Amino acid sequence: MAEDCLFCKIASGQIPGDVVMQDEEAVAFRDINPQGPTHVLVIPRRHVGNAASVTPADAELVGRLVLMAARVAEQDGIQHSGYRLVFNVGAHGGESVPHLHLHLIGGRQLAWPPG
Ligand code: AMP
Ligand code: ZN
Repeated sequence: MAEDCLFCKIASGQIPGDVVMQDEEAVAFRDINPQGPTHVLVIPRRHVGNAASVTPADAELVGRLVLMAARVAEQDGIQHSGYRLVFNVGAHGGESVPHLHLHLIGGRQLAWPPG
């Protein structure tokens, strides 16, 4: 756990989150500022900085985030209507929390390209 990391604290239960799914490696919880009817963040329990700092040793972990996101999408009933999975990286990517998180956004039509 990284010191003063918001998402490490949510993963460990130190700070409450609206958790919708979890296993031994990952936790999925609803975004506090949702951008759609479904907006869930899927994070590793272990601190990983962001997608740019992922190493080959994290490859399976990243795969597990995608698998969990797809299962949450099914749980929310948006698997057929579709959704978006996003890792924001750095300033231009819009990253604001430096703990790896996969956004799952759906439940409405999303625009592309992003503004
Ligand atoms: P990003 O901008 O990609 O780093 O995404 C960070 C996301 O975390 C944003 O969508 C925030 O709304 C969300 N967020 C920040 N604090 C919390 C919190 N305490 N619980 C749930 N989501 C949060
Ligand atoms: Zn962390």
